[in-house]
Amino acid sequence: MDLSLTPDQDALREATTRLYAKESHGERVREAEARGLDPVLWDAVVQMGLPVMAVPESQGGAGASLTDLAVAVEVHGAHLGSAPLVETAVVARLLARLGLDEPLSRIMAGGSATLRLTAGPGRSVTAYAAVADVIVAYDGTSLVSVAAGPARKGLAGLALADVDPAGGTVLAAGTEVTASYALALDEWRALTAVAQAGLSRATLDVGVQYAKDRHQFGAPIASFQTIQHRFADLHARVDSSRLLAYQAIWALDEGEPTAAGLAAQASWWCGEIADEAAGFSLHVHGGYGFMLEYDVQLHVRRAKATRLLLGDPRQELQVIAEHRWGASAPSPELSHTARPTRAGMDFRFEPETEAFRSEVRSFIAEQPIDEIIRRAHATGTMHDWGFHRALCDKGYLAAGWPTEFGGLGRSAIDQCVLMQEFYGSGAPIDGLNIAAMVGATLLVCGSDEQKATVLPRILAGEVMGCLGYSEPDAGSDVAAVATKAIRDGEDWVIEGQKMFTTMAHEAHFVFLLARSNPDVPKHKGLTMFLIPMDTPGIEITPVETMGGERTNITF
Ligand SMILES: Cc1cc2nc3c(=O)[nH]c(=O)nc-3n(C[C@H](O)[C@H](O)[C@H](O)COP(=O)(O)OP(=O)(O)OC[C@H]3O[C@@H](n4cnc5c(N)ncnc54)[C@H](O)[C@@H]3O)c2cc1C
Repeated sequence: MDLSLTPDQDALREATTRLYAKESHGERVREAEARGLDPVLWDAVVQMGLPVMAVPESQGGAGASLTDLAVAVEVHGAHLGSAPLVETAVVARLLARLGLDEPLSRIMAGGSATLRLTAGPGRSVTAYAAVADVIVAYDGTSLVSVAAGPARKGLAGLALADVDPAGGTVLAAGTEVTASYALALDEWRALTAVAQAGLSRATLDVGVQYAKDRHQFGAPIASFQTIQHRFADLHARVDSSRLLAYQAIWALDEGEPTAAGLAAQASWWCGEIADEAAGFSLHVHGGYGFMLEYDVQLHVRRAKATRLLLGDPRQELQVIAEHRWGASAPSPELSHTARPTRAGMDFRFEPETEAFRSEVRSFIAEQPIDEIIRRAHATGTMHDWGFHRALCDKGYLAAGWPTEFGGLGRSAIDQCVLMQEFYGSGAPIDGLNIAAMVGATLLVCGSDEQKATVLPRILAGEVMGCLGYSEPDAGSDVAAVATKAIRDGEDWVIEGQKMFTTMAHEAHFVFLLARSNPDVPKHKGLTMFLIPMDTPGIEITPVETMGGERTNITF
């Protein structure tokens, strides 16, 4: 066994890395997301000959192996390349195998290509179909060349469009085509797995660098053991995914009988790890990872979007099972047949809880939910005053509060059911959550005046608060807040900057944490203020986040 690259492959990796460092960095990836393709990157990739390098020399390619190509594809994945390198390379090899000089010649002349990843009739969303010069699809009998259908908006660009083989030009048919198309899919799986492995390593590096730079509790967060252990585990998992991807590529190069099974395994595992690595790097970034100016959100979306190109990623497990155990692979339904008739536990809710669920569902059904959701996504404000007041009228804001304080006195289970239904409906309820949290806090430790004047207005859905805890250097270490509260006669003067004050632009007051005594230990000199948002001197700056939600920086 020898897992090292050849000197030529090392040189190719270096040259490709130079190209991608110049032509595919964060700013360029952001620009390309809107149109789904970076034409300058694509030209550079074509100039370097990457899309056709693994086409036989006799057909105009460079006769390189799939492993050689994979070395470049790994770099492409690591730099979030916004160009159809894998797709074009796979289609070029497919057309070359079948001797289809037309449309292969268009790719040899610098054209881009893509492959519909599902066989049979019907429409399916295909990466880069909105921009590709050549689109091929397999309808179950024939390989056809088709035009793209309507473009689709995706999670991470990728120039998605519908592709339907119906009405396409037949390029070839027969058993050879069926086998060649299946092989093309396996090559796509294995090469995409390599790209995902490259992305995993890059996203892990981004997370590690951030953890080294970010300080909380007076130390770099990278010094906390729980972060170190997760990174160490991920490092090993990323390596394992990369090796599995290369093993699949190698098996395809060698024509090993295990190649198809390995390609499916690599597709599943590398997608899983890319998602996990990006997810943990995002986690390590705390709230900042959600801000569009940080690159980690690009990694998260690319990892997820790439994983979904084949449909539900779990389908790969069935493909793997079929490769390992053939037609006798247990189907998912079988696992239920051995179920004992009486399990001893019963997870059904009580009839009263189900009745409450029905009541909440009826309430939601009466609201213009689609319109509310559309508005929330258009504005990024995950709150709707009409919906908020309607749910306050029903008492849902204080479902769990005691009845003597204006609540419904509902159980914890009922409150979970309420939230299940609200979240399930897709309705924006950040306002509900913040208002309920501030209200419940006032209930426990607010002054009599606050309880008499503010609480009833919160319960009626007339006013809402926002939370002013986080600051640039005080997130998890919230007691490190630097915002100062200085006594000035009967008044307080408050100076400072708050991060992530979600809903500040809609709220009537801010529930704000400030340092009122700098001369005592940090956990002791703090005071919570309830400050009207129309107080002179408050400034709000919007912040866009990955999920489209608006939050704010507040001064
Ligand atoms: C969409 C959104 C809305 C928000 N809305 C509000 C709001 O309305 N009001 C408000 O005040 N804040 C809000 N926040 C901010 C949120 O409360 C902070 O993001 C959170 O407190 C984490 O702080 P941070 O982002 O500074 O991350 P950091 O504290 O820098 O943490 C970074 C990473 O280090 C880890 N970490 C930190 N310390 C340790 C430790 N000792 N041991 C192990 N791991 C550690 C964290 O778990 C995290 O993974 C919002 C954030 C987001 C993303």
